[in-house]
Amino acid sequence: MSSLILYIYKAALNILYFSGLYKLAAPITRGRGVIFTLHQVSDQPLDEFSPNSILTVTPDFLEQTIKTVLEEGYEIISLKEMTEREEGGAGQKPFAVFTFDDGYVDNKDVALKIFEKYDIPIAIYVVSEYSSHQGELWWLALEEIIRQNDSVKNPYMEGQVLPTRTTAQKYRAFDKIYWPMRHSNQHHQRITIRSLAEENDYDIDQLTRKLIMDWDQLKEINNSPLVTLGAHTKSHFALSRLTSAEAKSQVTEGLLKMEKELGEQAEHFSYPYGSRQCAGPRDFDLLKNLGMKTAVTTRKGVIYDAHDDHQTALPRVSLNGDYQHQKYLKVFMSGLPFRLYNFWNRLDVK
Ligand SMILES: [Zn+2]
Repeated sequence: MSSLILYIYKAALNILYFSGLYKLAAPITRGRGVIFTLHQVSDQPLDEFSPNSILTVTPDFLEQTIKTVLEEGYEIISLKEMTEREEGGAGQKPFAVFTFDDGYVDNKDVALKIFEKYDIPIAIYVVSEYSSHQGELWWLALEEIIRQNDSVKNPYMEGQVLPTRTTAQKYRAFDKIYWPMRHSNQHHQRITIRSLAEENDYDIDQLTRKLIMDWDQLKEINNSPLVTLGAHTKSHFALSRLTSAEAKSQVTEGLLKMEKELGEQAEHFSYPYGSRQCAGPRDFDLLKNLGMKTAVTTRKGVIYDAHDDHQTALPRVSLNGDYQHQKYLKVFMSGLPFRLYNFWNRLDVK
């Protein structure tokens, strides 16, 4: 998100917060509850150049968030409990579900410890190749390659060498490569990041080994009654950018591998990237037809009764690094900003 748009968006959230509008609207707009999106949890100090830092929250922020959610009168429940809930009757508390994408080791070492302290459930979505320590965490590899080098060839502009000495240059180069790479053919994306890594003597395979839980670690945490493991495909490709047959095999191969390794079938799913461009109605139908109980996107919103018929197109609220403040959290939980953004519609499933 550009810094100007972020500034405007934060200003709007501040107006909703300080005017108290979010509180007035909440009984109408907060719906049945909210599903939160998280990725990594770490208190490692950030490098000046950290373009993926929005995907990381600190343990303090996570714990404070749990406290705020409970203080606001929400019940923190599992995905299973969410699907079993009857339509919101009078007096029923709104719910919150915490979900983590990709299966980072810090989910076990840091996040789970906090969830155990409060005795509340956590869901983690697993990419079967990543947990086999294969595949490419391409966005993190790109960050590392740019961090470690003073110049990098632009794979999307023949002959162009991007200077990456200063922090500003590193950010510019990241933006120049990240977006074409994210939107490119998903197979080419992985070929391109691998050759960029090779050109710059960067060992891309150590990233999954360093950052992602392997099957033994997943088995270990899956013993906890607080943990739900969901599926996040085989290779973390954007489903919308694949043919129907490819999308189906990405999902089913991921599910089969999980079943083989963990001895049980996943019932919950998260779309890689999860945005409108990366997961659409064809994919919502695919997951429904495969019998998934729920599938979550990264479209922004809270959960209403109307979502009962769209359990494989659920919106979430991201707790990403740009909004690490409890006032934003309260405004998001009210559902109001999403209703305003969405022309007052409850559903965004097209
Ligand atoms: Zn993901």
